Amino acid sequence: MSSPQVSVLVVEDDPGIATQLVRGLERAGYSADSVTMGVEALNRPRTDVVLLDLGLPDIDGIDVCRRLRRSSDTAIIVVTARGEESDRVLALDEGADDYLVKPFGLAELLARIRAVLRRGRVTGGETLRHGSLMVDLRTRKVLVNEAEIALTPKEFAILECLATDPGRLVSRQEIVERAWDEHWYGPTKVLDVHMAALRKKLGDPALIETVYGHGFRLADT
Ligand code: CA
Repeated sequence: MSSPQVSVLVVEDDPGIATQLVRGLERAGYSADSVTMGVEALNRPRTDVVLLDLGLPDIDGIDVCRRLRRSSDTAIIVVTARGEESDRVLALDEGADDYLVKPFGLAELLARIRAVLRRGRVTGGETLRHGSLMVDLRTRKVLVNEAEIALTPKEFAILECLATDPGRLVSRQEIVERAWDEHWYGPTKVLDVHMAALRKKLGDPALIETVYGHGFRLADT
């Protein structure tokens, strides 16, 4: 049996783009619908994901984002033609989970949706346990053999990527995108420094397994 369908609301005043997005999402197995006004988006029942255009005819998209976030835990991906960094920062600060600049491909959009859904599954104070390791996502505390270890925000973010789905091979690029910036296009070399520090603090060098040329995963304990 397939899992329950994930619902996506497209908030987009350009009917051509909206139709294309809804079709693409439906083909990918999502239940999708669209509205053209910010006020309609705010009055709709909650969907799992909202794709939010920032340039709307009635309310500014940033404002819609802020109000949506205040009332619900829906995943918000801002979709816009505005490419300035200040807009991206503003949208993320107002609660957007991710940001896509037009034009973008459907494959990228689908990947972003999968990523926010993965992250969404572990919000809300969940505790991740893996062998002697315990990661509390709400308090951001990490314990190894019941002893708390102090991690920097980056180290915590890297560990969170791995501990969310122990055993899954997580690519270097995915870790960098999730732990640094959604739009990091630079080299992933910077990851190695933080990874080395994290391993040292965890105490057991075998806990994080390196898969050369691919990425990392949490080893079986
Ligand atoms: Ca628009």
